[in-house]
Amino acid sequence: MARTRQQNVTAAQWHSNGAALGAADLTAPGSYPFGDNVFSLDAQRKRLPKDVFKRLQATLHRGEALDPSLADAVANAMREWAMEKGATHFTHWFQPLTGSTAEKHDSFYAPTSEGTAIAEFSGKELIQGEPDASSFPTGGVRATFEARGYTAWDPTSPAFILENPNGALLCIPTAFASWTGEALDHKIPLLRSMDALSKAALRALRLLGDTEAQRVFTTVGPEQEYFLIDEQYYFERPDLYTTGRTLFGTKPPKGHELDDHYFGSIPERILAFMLESERELARLGVPTKTRHNEVAPNQYEIAPIFENSNVGSDHQQLTMQVMQNVARRYGLVCLLHEKPFAGVNGSGKHNNWSMGTDTGLNLLEPGDTPHENISFLFFCAAVIAAVNRHQALLRASVANVGQDHRLGANEAPPAIISIFLGAELLKIFNTIEKGEGDPATPGSFLGLGTPVLPPLPMHGGDRNRTSPFAFTGNKFEFRALGSSMSLALPNTVLNTIVAESVDQLCDKLEARGSNGTSSNDAIVEIVRETYSANKQICFDGDNYAESWHAEAEQRGLSNLRTTPDALPWLVEKQTISAFERYEVLSERELESRFEVSVEQYATKLNIEAETAASIARTMLLPAAVRHLGELRAAGHEGLIGETAGLVDEFVAAITTLEEKNAHHPADEGLEYAKWMRDNVIPAMEATRAVADKLERIVADDLWPLPKYSEMLFIK
Ligand code: ADP
Ligand code: MG
Repeated sequence: MARTRQQNVTAAQWHSNGAALGAADLTAPGSYPFGDNVFSLDAQRKRLPKDVFKRLQATLHRGEALDPSLADAVANAMREWAMEKGATHFTHWFQPLTGSTAEKHDSFYAPTSEGTAIAEFSGKELIQGEPDASSFPTGGVRATFEARGYTAWDPTSPAFILENPNGALLCIPTAFASWTGEALDHKIPLLRSMDALSKAALRALRLLGDTEAQRVFTTVGPEQEYFLIDEQYYFERPDLYTTGRTLFGTKPPKGHELDDHYFGSIPERILAFMLESERELARLGVPTKTRHNEVAPNQYEIAPIFENSNVGSDHQQLTMQVMQNVARRYGLVCLLHEKPFAGVNGSGKHNNWSMGTDTGLNLLEPGDTPHENISFLFFCAAVIAAVNRHQALLRASVANVGQDHRLGANEAPPAIISIFLGAELLKIFNTIEKGEGDPATPGSFLGLGTPVLPPLPMHGGDRNRTSPFAFTGNKFEFRALGSSMSLALPNTVLNTIVAESVDQLCDKLEARGSNGTSSNDAIVEIVRETYSANKQICFDGDNYAESWHAEAEQRGLSNLRTTPDALPWLVEKQTISAFERYEVLSERELESRFEVSVEQYATKLNIEAETAASIARTMLLPAAVRHLGELRAAGHEGLIGETAGLVDEFVAAITTLEEKNAHHPADEGLEYAKWMRDNVIPAMEATRAVADKLERIVADDLWPLPKYSEMLFIK
């Protein structure tokens, strides 16, 4: 099927092996070819016995479990390959519920009875590992009597080598589960949700007349924002190195008002960092594509070419890890916190999401024929319905303590989820709703004047940037993710709720007597009904405007401002019912995620509060008192009064903060989280407000913390 606007889509992108992607054309600068450090399709073909290679690929293609007899051969080839690259150890690389990645290293060498060592790596070690699960959060899933967890090889995400100046490490992407089979990580539900979506979408494709596709993959292309600051300042700021954000600091005299940083030229040290990160990522098979300055000073963005959700999500974790490592080689620190600097734009992560078939069709790409357009509108309508039904869950999937500084703060999407369709698509849906247009009948759209859908413009920088969920030409862009987050949960949610929605639309089609291929009329009717019932979620206006908050409330859209407001949606009835039906997460697994997220929120606030109180009492207060002493020594009456007043206020604020943080009524759960939000955050803010006033009057040589103007403008 010819689709002229189909871009960037190769079978390899839908398939799992990211390493196969673009091997020919994406050569990194210098002598390192793309995917050099990946046990790629190519490396496997070269090193595995022919029949093993074929059987492995066939298993992966069918999405079946691996035949254990293959494992030894694969492990052996993998070890040889890794050792030639200098690896001495291997690790099962996994993603516990903390949201970061975890590794436990084992040497390839095993002692022999002769007192020497031989290199060994068995199929069993490849397939399964047993880290000490008790040190990872499980939210009560794993009782202590069954304290073991295990990691299981994910052969659909390629193994890779992490280099270090003193050696190299073979990393094997794995899932992490309890012995009772419950997911303790973010990968398992993501994989399950991809299966769920594939099944539902294939069912729909058959009804829509597609007989060829065998598998539907969800795809993700994340745009990652981050800050770089000089490491000297970082290490002089206990708030930054313990919490990832500045807990004190007055706004710089020059912010982003001048707009001279965005897309400005990139300073040499920063560019050197970017080039090295990209080269390293390329060798790891991560296809980075764009880089530029972001809105705030010292803020930047990196974006890869999209891949299937599982590989894309693993690669996102790697990207964050590599950037943080490489930054240090240039005397920089890469900050991934959602809001490192108050009063300065925070960092997010745009999650570009679509669905594509193994035959190379992007299901969210408007087509060149009326029939393709009907299929596009069908899937689009399914997404609209899913987002409307599960808007609160989507909000919950991006909730964390850092996000609460951003969402709704007029620099990032609001805490209200809505969909931006763009004028053209909105017009098409409205026309269909009124029964005036039929995408299968040439010329039937009033005023559109074309036989097929007009080409929908691809997303450009000037399109609605305030929307949390925007259609951008051939994909949806979920823009509410925080910069430090794993992609896994939001994409698990998206895949699952869209699977449910696609199935609901299919049920309706079938109820209308469609068997085999549905008629265009029946499909258009379903699209019409679905849009009509869910259009309240569609909003093309300014999401930052005050009036939108009022309108959204009238429309009945949820507005979950803080993390404790949003998280309960992880365990709402309709969430549990969808996730259980598609076997993505059981009620118990959902509850564990809820508990872990709540606990992380409260714990992080507790650490922030302790850090703030300690910095205030032991660094800032002494500076202010010394300054006051100097004023007194100089006998400057006018200034003494002002400073002494602030010092008194400061002492009172610090004392309140310490008390609030020490004496909370509940010790765990949502109550504790809410108490921290309602009591400790205001106490921290009050302390900061006085400190920031003091920063403006205390002698610069006495002030112990590097200032925003230094951190944000030294490059
Ligand atoms: P923006 O204008 O938002 O910067 P870009 O055109 O740079 O958008 O694309 C942003 C991201 O969207 C890239 O990572 C790109 O690979 C990804 N993307 C493009 N097509 C798809 C798709 N079909 N599925 C998922 N992601 C996609
Ligand atoms: Mg974007």
